Amino acid sequence: MSIRIKVDGVEVETEGGAALIDAAAAAGVYIPALCYLPGHPALGTCRVCSVKVDGRIVPACTVTVTDGMRVEVADADVTDARKALVELLFAEGTHNCPSCEKSGRCTLQAVGYEVGMLVSRFPYQFPRRVADHAAEHLWLDRDRCIFCQRCVEFVRDRDTGAKIFSISGRGSHARIEIDAELADRMPPEQIRTAVDICPTGTILAKGVGYDQPIGARRYEVESVRDRTLEPQRETP
Ligand code: SF4
Repeated sequence: MSIRIKVDGVEVETEGGAALIDAAAAAGVYIPALCYLPGHPALGTCRVCSVKVDGRIVPACTVTVTDGMRVEVADADVTDARKALVELLFAEGTHNCPSCEKSGRCTLQAVGYEVGMLVSRFPYQFPRRVADHAAEHLWLDRDRCIFCQRCVEFVRDRDTGAKIFSISGRGSHARIEIDAELADRMPPEQIRTAVDICPTGTILAKGVGYDQPIGARRYEVESVRDRTLEPQRETP
């Protein structure tokens, strides 16, 4: 059923029941996001897509549009809140973009540019989490993980549906884990998907360093606003 909502004061016709982030995108309004993959269940972990709905700040991926809803995306407070969330993610990890293999195809980096981040307002923590090289074709640079849970939920063993990635520990002790035995059963295209689905440079393929020249990479030739660039979900 078709309904009407207002986005930044402009009336928009959309399908009732759609996720707000999708309805906004269909109306040409970009809302930055890191954990959300279009067409997939919302994870709601990063909250970078926060907007104001009827005066309340909420993540746009977890809200379903309803008739008459008033949405503020460009409001100064909520714009700064989104920027602060991105800055916090940069401060909580170790993100040396110029030397990262994922530079130019990293969603966190691209969203950092979109929100106008130059430096984090929060103190940098430079965590020291030991990298994991146990799997044959993949390795984890854990310092870059933002705990979005995309890999945990959307990359599964194709035979059993078991999770290949998981998160252990809590707070400052949290870290991303990989089941090396299951990872070694991943076919090459699933390995590629796991690398692509990670919005940071945490999941990397072994033996494939700098396969694409800087300057010709995904977000250097296309905008992160183009959501068709997002990787597809793995089907167990
Ligand atoms: S490894 Fe990548 S996809 Fe997985 S939780 Fe961390 S940032 Fe997200």
